[in-house]
Amino acid sequence: MARTILITGAASGICKATAELCRAAGDTVISVDIRDADIIADLSTGEGRATMLREAERLAPNGLDAVLAGAGLSRADMPRETVAVNYFGAVATLEGLRPLLLKSARPRAVVICSTAAILPGNDLLVETCLAGDEAAALAIAGDAPRSVYPDSKRAISKWLRRTAGSREWAGSGILLNGVGPGVVETAMTAPMLKQPEMVEMIKKSNPMAVEGYAQPEEIAELLVFLLGFTNHYMVGQLIFIDGGTDIIMRPEQV
Ligand code: NAD
Repeated sequence: MARTILITGAASGICKATAELCRAAGDTVISVDIRDADIIADLSTGEGRATMLREAERLAPNGLDAVLAGAGLSRADMPRETVAVNYFGAVATLEGLRPLLLKSARPRAVVICSTAAILPGNDLLVETCLAGDEAAALAIAGDAPRSVYPDSKRAISKWLRRTAGSREWAGSGILLNGVGPGVVETAMTAPMLKQPEMVEMIKKSNPMAVEGYAQPEEIAELLVFLLGFTNHYMVGQLIFIDGGTDIIMRPEQV
C-alpha cells in the first residue's frame, strides 16, 4: 500500500537515498531541507520549524504514514546550530508532526542518531537538551563546543528511549525507533575523510570490526524497514549500523 512519508534532510546523503527508495516503492515523499526540497525550512529556527509544520499540513491534509527526522549537521564551527538541528529540530519535527501521524492507520517514525552518542561528552548539555531548554542548551554549546555533535546525538537517543513507549507514541499506535550509523560516506563526512589526520582520529574514536565505511543506501534500507508496515513489534530501539563500533566499545552493554 502506497504511503505518504515526510523526510527531513532529504536533499543529501542518507535521507536522500531513503527518499529515493521510498519513491521507487511507490510512496509519496514530502522532502524537507534547507535547500532542494518540497518544503524549504531551516530546522535550527523556530520559524523554520513552524514553516515545516504548516506546509506539511497543507501538503498532507489526510495525514502522514511515516516521518523520518534525519536532518543533521556536524560542524565544529557551528556548535549552536548543531544542537539546534540535531536535537531540538528533530524533537520539533517528531512532536510537531505527531497529529498528522495519528491520522494514519499504522504510523511509523524514525530519528537518525549516531554511534557518536556512546562517546563521552558534556552531560550538562545533554540534560539541558532533555529538559527542553533550548536557549540554555545553545548557550552551553556556544561556550563549550568541543563535544556538541556527540552530545546532541546522545540527547536525541535518550529522548527516543524515554519517549517511544509513552501514551502519546506507542500508546497511540505510533512506532518510534532510531538508527545510529557509524561512518557513512556522505557530504557530512567527505571533508573529514579527505584529511589523513582526521581519518586517524576517526579510527581511534570509531574502532570497527569490518573494513571501510558505509554507503548511504545501506542505511536507507534499514530506515525503509523501520518506516514500513513490516515492523509492527520493534519500539524505541536505537539500532547501531556501525561496522561494530558499539560492540567493540561497549561489549558488556546489552
Ligand atoms: P548530509 O550532510 O549528506 O545530509 C544532511 C542533510 O541535512 C542535508 O541535506 C542538509 O541540508 C540538511 N540540514 C542541515 N542543516 C539543516 C537545517 N538547519 N535545516 C534543514 N535541513 C538541514 O549528511 P548525512 O550523513 O546524510 O546525515 C544524515 C543524518 O545522519 C544526520 O542526522 C547525521 O547526523 C546522521 N549521521 C551521519 C553519519 C555519517 O557518517 N554520515 C553518521 C551518523 C549519523
